[in-house]
Amino acid sequence: MIDLVPHFIFAKDSDGRFVLANRALAEAYGSTPEQLEGKTDADFAKSQEEAAHFRAEDLAVIQSGNASDIEEVITDSSGRQRTLHTVKIPFSYEGTTRPGLLGVAIDISAQKVAQQRIAYLAHHDDLTGLPNRLELEAFLQRRLSQGLPFALLFLDFDHFKDINDSLGHGIGDVFLKLMAQRIGAWLTKGDFVCRIGGDEFVVVLRHAESPLAQTKVETLLQLLREPVAIDSLMLSSTCSVGAALFPNDGASTETLMKNADAALYSAKAQGRNGAQFFSAALYQAADRRLAMLNGLRTAAAHDEFTLHFQPILDTHTNRWLSVEALLRWKSKQLGNVGPAEFISLAEETGLITSIGQWVLHAACAQQASWASRGIKMNISVNISARQLLVPTFESEFRAFCQETGAKPEHLTFEITEGVLLTDVAAAQRVLNSLAHSGVMISVDDFGVGYSSLSYLRKLPISFLKIDRSFVTDCHQNADDLAIIRGVIAIAKALRLKVVAEGVETEAQATLLRSEGCNALQGYLFARPMTAEALTSLIAST
Ligand code: C2E
Ligand code: MG
Ligand code: MG
Repeated sequence: MIDLVPHFIFAKDSDGRFVLANRALAEAYGSTPEQLEGKTDADFAKSQEEAAHFRAEDLAVIQSGNASDIEEVITDSSGRQRTLHTVKIPFSYEGTTRPGLLGVAIDISAQKVAQQRIAYLAHHDDLTGLPNRLELEAFLQRRLSQGLPFALLFLDFDHFKDINDSLGHGIGDVFLKLMAQRIGAWLTKGDFVCRIGGDEFVVVLRHAESPLAQTKVETLLQLLREPVAIDSLMLSSTCSVGAALFPNDGASTETLMKNADAALYSAKAQGRNGAQFFSAALYQAADRRLAMLNGLRTAAAHDEFTLHFQPILDTHTNRWLSVEALLRWKSKQLGNVGPAEFISLAEETGLITSIGQWVLHAACAQQASWASRGIKMNISVNISARQLLVPTFESEFRAFCQETGAKPEHLTFEITEGVLLTDVAAAQRVLNSLAHSGVMISVDDFGVGYSSLSYLRKLPISFLKIDRSFVTDCHQNADDLAIIRGVIAIAKALRLKVVAEGVETEAQATLLRSEGCNALQGYLFARPMTAEALTSLIAST
């Protein structure tokens, strides 16, 4: 029976001689149960040191008279080191006065390996083999207690997602591994690098005071810009770095990390591919962001939002084609905050979906209110990417129309190109359905940042809005004019209408009219204004 058991089972007398041993144990010693009988561990063990250790443990159990539960290592006959979990129990044979012991040992080598791996993973990043966030904490604590200056760098690859999306995660992983090696090889003794997730790394440079840290960071950025060969591909990427210096920018891990992160945020906002060092101004910016974020959460409930309206002129009829609803926020804490500042924050954090619903509801109510007074006015509403792709967007919109009495055919949704490209299929579904019920779709800020035009054929678009950046200098800058002409040509070919925004001068207006723009919007005609002001404007024109 005991030979069937895969664990070691044995009994020894007081001198350590086997009275009994099962096959599993005998095989580990390269022997048979019969050969083991009457012999000691020392007669078979590969290592005399191990044998001596077994004997010492045995004696301790016998002398104490208590069972014990220990971990020990045995080198078996094939030379393999196996970790055993052994239970030893004192045992007196009938007729003997000196007690011996019984033992059962289980091979836990596989568990040991797994445990070591878990311990490794707790402190390392599996992909790159670099230390992880936990190790970073410990490292920073040591550096802080030494009190010597150092630089903490947050490093993030720019548009890394594109590599993953276009070439696959396999290539993305190799890229990160190679970059990790590059950083590691560049560091000098006493520096530190770890990966804290995705494409984010943290580097700690010792003795780095301001000018030195700046040159070091520049070198690092340059190093990481160098292309890297993966399979037959030559890949290159840039990265952004945010830096905080100890002791100037903080005396605790938490503060330094927060400040390096704020600096990274600013580096990204400044167009990426560069480094930002933490400064007091940055701190204020981060502080303001936080205040805005808190304020935005409750702005609708506290009645801090209003809509302003800016008319859009039809160049053919010289009448108002539509009015664009533009959100205004008067915060109790921060005063007036411009949409250019808070909309991007709301988009980043997802708050835009609820804010956008507030806007849509208010625009529907306004449209219905004007209609009830006999004013037929089309309203253009800016719809953000995230908002449009929320599955309940359309049903909520329909509910708003029902509730307020707004007519979908008197609404235009202005959507920036980005959304149309991130998830074309989803955008297509929603937009088709909206267009079917009469809503017109306008592509806002057209020409800024994206190049794929194929979506124009697939989506039910009525208008292209030429971005203000092309309009501002169009009568002086041949390139801007060329782009405007290009947009108009595309629009004509696809039977879309063109709206130019940001028209401030007669010169711009004359030129845009002669080029064939269908509608113009800008300070030249009217600034964004309250609903009441707009009502009087309409009445007077
Ligand atoms: P947009 O949709 O491109 O809106 C046009 C912006 O240009 C408005 O800025 C408008 O006030 C400004 N503008 C109009 N004519 C002129 C001009 O002649 N000269 C100059 N310099 N500017 C002119 P605003 O109101 O600050 O809005 C900025 C952006 O914020 C908007 O750009 C839009 O992307 C976003 N936004 C505003 N309201 C909403 C909203 O309710 N929802 C969403 N998702 N975004 C909104
Ligand atoms: Mg707009
Ligand atoms: Mg625009």
